[in-house]
Amino acid sequence: MTVHGKVVAITGASSGIGEATARHLASLGAPVVLGARRTDRLDRLVVEIEADGGKAAALRVDVTESGDLKALVDVAVERFGRLDVLVGNAGISRISPVVDLDVEGWSAMVDVNVKGILHGIAAALPVFRRQGSGHLITVVSTAGLKIVPTQAVYAGTKNAVRTLLEGLRQESTDGVPRTTSISPGYVRTELIDNAVDDPAVREQVRGTMAELGIDPAAVARAIAFAIDQPEDVEIGDLTIRPTRQG
Ligand code: NDP
Repeated sequence: MTVHGKVVAITGASSGIGEATARHLASLGAPVVLGARRTDRLDRLVVEIEADGGKAAALRVDVTESGDLKALVDVAVERFGRLDVLVGNAGISRISPVVDLDVEGWSAMVDVNVKGILHGIAAALPVFRRQGSGHLITVVSTAGLKIVPTQAVYAGTKNAVRTLLEGLRQESTDGVPRTTSISPGYVRTELIDNAVDDPAVREQVRGTMAELGIDPAAVARAIAFAIDQPEDVEIGDLTIRPTRQG
């Protein structure tokens, strides 16, 4: 089994990279289970995927609630019989210098970007262990590889997840689960819309995204590549960014 037939749950599937990943994997024959808070968008996506011949289910998931991740995994198992891959993609960004002390923003990023992944691990790992196979993919960021001013906390959350996955990989000596961290660079999505309060800075970042950002479908293809490997092959870290990104 490569991508075709694999049951894939995706958090943050209501827009951007998560939505593109859902469409791409479904087009390759993977039943997809979609989680996010904007259920109107998820429901529309399910209808579109099914109209194209794919299989999909959706439910409201707030990744800061561990029970919601458990429900996501349960739906995969109940509807499609198993869970092969969990894509921990939901994430938020708040852009501001540390000295501005955006304590609320820091907490929100830790809750969604780090605890959200931990909640996914807690929900999926028992199923993966029971099945004897499973694949955990997280969407981290090049922000964690080249730290830039105003993104220190965001970068910290992404590197926390990268570290977490490497630790899990080393503990999983029997290869369950496979672990993959995907690090996108600039991708044209809605991420920036809620990342900055200052309209001038927001427009500046939007300009950079519009000029340089790659299509979220490119990240979806990278995720499919990581899934589409024989069981004894693990794509550990994968960076995908605009060719011209500094
Ligand atoms: P989007 O804003 O388009 O997507 C973010 C997704 O996360 C949405 O579907 C949103 O759904 C979901 N989300 C946010 N908070 C929660 C929550 N509490 N519970 C459940 N879902 C939540 O941005 P992207 O597609 O760009 O972001 C996807 C991932 O890619 C993120 O982890 C981001 O950090 C990462 N990334 C993005 C880059 C970029 O340049 N765009 C670069 C590097 C990494 P909803 O609001 O409906 O809940």
